[in-house]
Amino acid sequence: MDSELSNDGETARSDGDRPTATGRPTAEEVLRLDGVRKEYGPETAVDSLSLTVREGELLTLLGPSGCGKTTTLRMMAGLERPDAGSVRLAGETVADGSTHVPPERRDVGLVFQDFALFPHLTVAENVAFGLTDATDDEKDRRITELLDLVDLAAHREATPDELSGGQRQRVALARSLAPEPDILLLDEPFSNLDVRLRVEMREEVRSILKEAGVTAVSVTHDQEEALSISDRVAVMDDGRVEQIGRPESVFEHPESRFVASFLGQAGFLSGKYDDDTIETPIGTFRPQRLNGLSEEYVGTDLDVLVRPDDLEATVVGESEADGHIIHRQYTGPSFVYRVELGNGDVVHCQHNHVTELDIGKPVGVELVADHTLAWYPPREEAPEGTERRAERPGTR
Ligand code: ATP
Repeated sequence: MDSELSNDGETARSDGDRPTATGRPTAEEVLRLDGVRKEYGPETAVDSLSLTVREGELLTLLGPSGCGKTTTLRMMAGLERPDAGSVRLAGETVADGSTHVPPERRDVGLVFQDFALFPHLTVAENVAFGLTDATDDEKDRRITELLDLVDLAAHREATPDELSGGQRQRVALARSLAPEPDILLLDEPFSNLDVRLRVEMREEVRSILKEAGVTAVSVTHDQEEALSISDRVAVMDDGRVEQIGRPESVFEHPESRFVASFLGQAGFLSGKYDDDTIETPIGTFRPQRLNGLSEEYVGTDLDVLVRPDDLEATVVGESEADGHIIHRQYTGPSFVYRVELGNGDVVHCQHNHVTELDIGKPVGVELVADHTLAWYPPREEAPEGTERRAERPGTR
């Protein structure tokens, strides 16, 4: 078995996202959701959701609008009560059928989209807000420490309207970190920043969280943000976690077509596994090129995941063509060509910005990926007894 794949798969399965054999939490676990459900009238916003958050990690809930990310975060915070399942925080049950600890009695820090700073208070006073039990000296020490951490020592006496968006966000972060919460919850923390600042701030926020050593859960629908800042990403769809793992793991070994498509441009080549080759509309290749493909699939059809940088298109004569260019997208550094293959499959090919090909041209498409590829057997055609495998290929 491919060791990298084995590692990815085992990481996803044994990383505390399922109950341990004894049902007891692992020592490093800060937050655990078990079978959590939330309904709003006839709508199930979150359904049988289980996940754990480990000490010191930044876990991001990623998914399309309406998939239940914010509702999940609100149940972690205690702002919503689950209709079923349980929430454990720092070893204590804070929500289940008979318990519901309110937000103010949970050791949780919250950072909202709009930062929610007090406009009439100074930066120092905003940060001090959560330090109710401390003496004046302790408060002063803690404020100094936090303003150093977020690099705002020079703005201690400023009010929020005198600060930039990025600086306001850092004040919000310092304020939430002040009482040393067990966990910090960030709801779309970058959505109110302009695009350039967003990229800058996500680097900065990650490094502040790491320096503070805090455990955090963030929510976003931005794939790039989730992949770039997180230790682990939980990809959600329709109220459930579809896949959870390291950013590299979920991107390179997506366990479902949904995850593959949500994390980046994805094309699927219709393949047939015959003897020791995979036949596809762009030629044949060895089965070893597919993640963990076993011989039980010989004779079956399967779909091979190809991303734009896995393929290269070259203009050829009509008689040798694999397909035709049907769309061209200029992204600045590159062109992404959409190619319709002879059998109707549509794939994307990414080229350097100097390689300009015309729409309508016949092209040959070559697989240039230097890594193994994820694949998915058509569900209805999966061999008997392999249904679960059919949804989670390429990870074993
Ligand atoms: P977005 O990225 O758009 O914020 P989300 O993934 O955070 O979406 P949620 O806000 O958790 O999704 O919503 C999940 C579902 O629950 C949606 O269909 C939403 O309409 C519904 N929902 C959320 N809050 C409420 C509420 N207070 N009352 C009724 N329905 C709600």
